[in-house]
Amino acid sequence: MYNPKSKIATEFIDDAEIRETLAYAEQNKDNFALIDQILEKAATLKGLSHREAMVLLECDSPEYLQKIFSLAMEIKQKNYGNRIVMFAPLYLSNYCVNECRYCPYHHHNTHIARKQLSQEEIAREVIALQDMGHKRLALETGEDPVNCPIEYVLESIKTIYSIKHKNGAIRRVNVNIAATTVENYRKLKEAGIGTYILFQETYNKESYEYLHPAGPKSNYAYHTEAMDRAMEGGIDDVGCGVLFGLNMYRYDFVGLLMHAEHLEAVFGVGPHTISVPRIRSADDIDPAQFSNAISDEIFQRIVAVLRIAVPYTGLIISTRESQATREKVLHLGISQISGASRTSVGGYVEQEKENTAQFDISDDRTLDEVIGWLMDLGHIPSFCTACYREGRTGDRFMSLVKTQQIGNCCQPNALLTLKEYLMDYASPQTREKGEKMIQDTIPKIPNEKVRRLTVEHLQDIENGKRDFRF
Ligand code: SF4
Ligand code: SF4
Repeated sequence: MYNPKSKIATEFIDDAEIRETLAYAEQNKDNFALIDQILEKAATLKGLSHREAMVLLECDSPEYLQKIFSLAMEIKQKNYGNRIVMFAPLYLSNYCVNECRYCPYHHHNTHIARKQLSQEEIAREVIALQDMGHKRLALETGEDPVNCPIEYVLESIKTIYSIKHKNGAIRRVNVNIAATTVENYRKLKEAGIGTYILFQETYNKESYEYLHPAGPKSNYAYHTEAMDRAMEGGIDDVGCGVLFGLNMYRYDFVGLLMHAEHLEAVFGVGPHTISVPRIRSADDIDPAQFSNAISDEIFQRIVAVLRIAVPYTGLIISTRESQATREKVLHLGISQISGASRTSVGGYVEQEKENTAQFDISDDRTLDEVIGWLMDLGHIPSFCTACYREGRTGDRFMSLVKTQQIGNCCQPNALLTLKEYLMDYASPQTREKGEKMIQDTIPKIPNEKVRRLTVEHLQDIENGKRDFRF
């Protein structure tokens, strides 16, 4: 029985409710009076229910599709302005006891090199990331209680925060590790992590069980209820996602929104971020084996309707996607992207010497190229990490987004962190573009005091000081 407040996975992700939602959307996909009402509601930035969102996703009318895309853009602009936050993944270990059918780290893959970085190797990776200009990382590990215990992850977080190379610093470490206990989540919180990220892969229990035939991850309930345990452990920023292409995208789209509704209903805080990865080829993985792969066109619709349905949630796209695809969805509400990523263990220093990658990347440009490209498209690249460092997490953060106040921080923080990047890491061409963008944006800062302080801090950065934030 569907119950968003239940703590039981199959009740807050109720199969019957998902199937009824899909049928309802199919019946109403040409009901333009209803779609108008849904769009009107969405324009108030209050978000949509999973049923309403699914009707929009199912709608095929080119005219309405255009309306959906325009609204998605408008909402992104209203909530976050034109900044795009940058991050990079850091793979610590690819030992894994699970048997996920879509991932080359699965336990019985014997032709992939297994590796766990030592603290010295992590320090070298972090220096390489800092030397590119990164300030925000997402830690990635496989699941292996022996070769990658929680103590190792905690020690690694400490190492990462301790490295200060030249003007570099990692100011926010997000963590993407396997579902774990409340106690371990509490330890991660104490270690100062930003967001805890865990992808559901698919919400369809049957497919989930087929795709995860062995290992702790095969337990659907334990995995699906992980965010509840994370929140009980004090982590109030969690990042959800599904791996599109594993199951029917419609089913997973509805499941994702039901998960968000569940977190909101139980903890008063929906997901801090949602990621939209699509399955990619990798060592022994051929995406063609997965018959539910989604087209770029559907992918764009998913991004736009998510933006509308959960306007307070950051939307993330990684270098799994090509420059061309990233370009198509950036304008539809994406608020965070990775740049110059390496998806192998030790890949920033060793540059793929060994075969340890989790998936092939499609966008292999340098960070400087990505930053220049974002500015060419009219976005302000941002290395901001201010909210979590100012205690703006969980419901405090959400209330600022829901009242459209966060943009007042995002915009100046984007300029200040971009300025740091330009001073410390940018090529001459990127620096020129960036300086122009900063000068053009300053007059657009609405609050006079914030504008004055931004100008002062920009000057301070010019004079060698770092790390200002609103
Ligand atoms: S997806 Fe994660 S848990 Fe599954 S095999 Fe890959 S690393 Fe292991
Ligand atoms: S001010 Fe907060 S929401 Fe805005 S970019 Fe910085 S950390 Fe993100």
